[in-house]
Amino acid sequence: MTKLSGERRTIAIETTGFMPEVEGDALFVAALGAGKACPGLPMVEIGSYCGRSTVWLGAAAETCGTLLFAVDHHGGSEENQIGWEWHDPTLVDASTGRLNTLPHFEKTMSRARLTDTVRTVVGDSPTIASTWTQQIAMCFIDGGHARDVAANDYAAWNGHIALGGILAIHDVFTDPALGGQAPYEEIYLAAINGGKFADVSATGSLRVLTRVK
Ligand code: SAH
Ligand code: MG
Repeated sequence: MTKLSGERRTIAIETTGFMPEVEGDALFVAALGAGKACPGLPMVEIGSYCGRSTVWLGAAAETCGTLLFAVDHHGGSEENQIGWEWHDPTLVDASTGRLNTLPHFEKTMSRARLTDTVRTVVGDSPTIASTWTQQIAMCFIDGGHARDVAANDYAAWNGHIALGGILAIHDVFTDPALGGQAPYEEIYLAAINGGKFADVSATGSLRVLTRVK
């Protein structure tokens, strides 16, 4: 089965977020490949938001018999804050007046019956990476899209990806007219030009690379 199906597909599509369906399907295929290439090693997602992409990734991790660590501070990226383009007022915690996606994320994982496979890691991505020791089969980077944030995510996580493992990057736009350049220049080009990663596939703004050195 190379496509997420049934109730989990419905849940993924119903979940608030930014992962288009075809790209979610491509992410699922990439994760199955990573699990096969690096059996037993866990997977990591940077930027889970309400858990939309996490359903595709978590389902793949479950199929591979491994864990998915879903890293997010759940306070939203710059572009999700009040007054910015990608702000969703329904995600503001009324008691603090601040964005908090954690309850939405937890609800999605529980609805999708993924709580045994997905480990919720609440915190800042480079801070989590700094004490990380285990090799990983896959890293999916979909965190903040400011230049320094994207560069820090790549620097923090790329070395943890096992040989033959997968680096997947969301929101890669080669044309500045279509979107911000940070994921393209600070993650994708850094990975390709550094010589450690090679292209596997591109679906919409999702790029899948594999570690070759
Ligand atoms: N993958 C999601 C969308 C992610 S949006 C989907 O499919 O819908 C980007 C997320 O990255 C936000 O939830 C934000 O809180 C998180 N984020 C941004 N910078 C971060 C950082 N430094 N550490 C951890 N999470 C971060
Ligand atoms: Mg994205």
